[in-house]
Amino acid sequence: MYEIGHFIGGKRVAGSSGRTANVFNPATGEVQAKVALASDAEIHAAVENAKAIQPAWAATNPQRRARVFMKFVDLLNQNMQELAEMLSREHGKTVEDSKGDIVRGLEVCEFVIGIPHLSKSEFTEGAGPGIDMYSIRQPVGIGAGITPFNFPAMIPMWMFAPAIACGNAFILKPSERDPSVPIRLAELMIEAGLPAGILNVVNGDKSAVDAILADPDIGAVSFVGSTPIARYVYGTAATNGKRAQCFGGAKNHMIIMPDADLDQAANALMGAGYGSAGERCMAISVAVPIGEETANRLIDKLTPMVESLRIGPYTDDKADMGPVVTKEARERILGLIEKGVEQGANLAVDGRDFKLQGYEDGYFVGGCLFDNVTPDMDIYKTEIFGPVLSVVRAKNYEEALELPMKHEYGNGVAIYTRDGDAARDFASRINIGMVGVNVPIPVPLAYHSFGGWKSSSFGDLNQHGTDSIKFWTRTKTVTSRWPSGIKDGAEYIMPTMK
Ligand code: NAD
Repeated sequence: MYEIGHFIGGKRVAGSSGRTANVFNPATGEVQAKVALASDAEIHAAVENAKAIQPAWAATNPQRRARVFMKFVDLLNQNMQELAEMLSREHGKTVEDSKGDIVRGLEVCEFVIGIPHLSKSEFTEGAGPGIDMYSIRQPVGIGAGITPFNFPAMIPMWMFAPAIACGNAFILKPSERDPSVPIRLAELMIEAGLPAGILNVVNGDKSAVDAILADPDIGAVSFVGSTPIARYVYGTAATNGKRAQCFGGAKNHMIIMPDADLDQAANALMGAGYGSAGERCMAISVAVPIGEETANRLIDKLTPMVESLRIGPYTDDKADMGPVVTKEARERILGLIEKGVEQGANLAVDGRDFKLQGYEDGYFVGGCLFDNVTPDMDIYKTEIFGPVLSVVRAKNYEEALELPMKHEYGNGVAIYTRDGDAARDFASRINIGMVGVNVPIPVPLAYHSFGGWKSSSFGDLNQHGTDSIKFWTRTKTVTSRWPSGIKDGAEYIMPTMK
């Protein structure tokens, strides 16, 4: 049993609110830690701390800021195994998968090493007679990030790396389910040379989020989590005059054309549907084979693969996936599967009774595969966020295209085909933010940007890539004219506008 406090002013501090939450080991169901839940006063103290030091950080030249990230990337690589195990112990995902979580964050830290170049400004010489005009980007001041449980390394880094590289101070409020890694990341940032007080980690729940949203000194808020909370954070931040980017839930479809390589598509569906027990916002949760023959062949291929998924605790290095994050998550997922059966979907692989010997109290759910799912069913409309794949059969391409087009969410989507014309048409017409062509999880790399459409995202600037530099900075445009005089010598006639 261990205790997790906050990280304020460059060091770990204990919580003082008297409120804590349990941190579970999802593989065993045991409470392994208590995490402090911050009070308004603790959030305020972190902000005050950040406010005092931020101007000096903003005034530090960008190549020096970049060097902190060079060292940090080095430290992440050196500490990869320790970080991955720490992450898996609280999240439940396999250690290899946790390394992926860290590496996808690390790549954004590599991207921001380019901050001297990324933050250069625009200049127009001679915008008018003797007039020059330039636009500079200055840090917002203090930024805040509120992050979900499913990527406790990647998403905090997606937020704090560009924010800090741009010269901001940062308040991170991680998920209370797996809070150890974010604090360790902050410690490594100090070791990399970041001045104390620039990156603060304050643990907490809704009350801490509300204190962040009410704080007048926080200028920008980035949120990743479920759609109802994303909508709430976006609305409240905007009402309080802050800029906000809020990313929500998903229901990602994969269209499988009759000409697709079905072995490749089935393998892709296994990884994208069941990896991390389906707890990814870019997981594929709906497969849409076109035509009865494609659908039958796909189900025949997937059934034995789902049945033979290897499920285990993170310490099992051969496991394909681990448990889900909490008992409540498990119950919610099982409840939705029950509804799917009641509403007439065909549960081709039923993982509801899965039990792992020695881990009977762990939050495991066996892989489930539904066939003949229809758009009116709850399992189609809702983000299940578990190891459950739904197959919706479509007669033709247009019918398949309509499904993700009409869905509430618009995070990711994929098409599997050998036909370039179909793929091109699909990428052009689909109303979804991230599109994969024969790629199941099209998460853009650090130098492009990540974000969905529709109810998967609120706000106009995406995460990482050049969007993130825009989000964490404000534009200032200067129009400047210098009176002529000295170089021309004295003037003896009455001055007029020449
Ligand atoms: P969540 O919405 O429960 O929690 C996210 C954050 O909000 C946490 O820090 C939590 O403490 C805080 N929070 C919880 N309830 C709150 C409330 N009532 N008011 C204010 N703040 C509150 O999400 P989660 O379960 O941690 O994460 C899973 C969700 O995140 C899924 O819906 C998934 O699709 C989504 N997600 C989206 C993306 C994306 O980029 N679009 C990426 C990862 C995860």
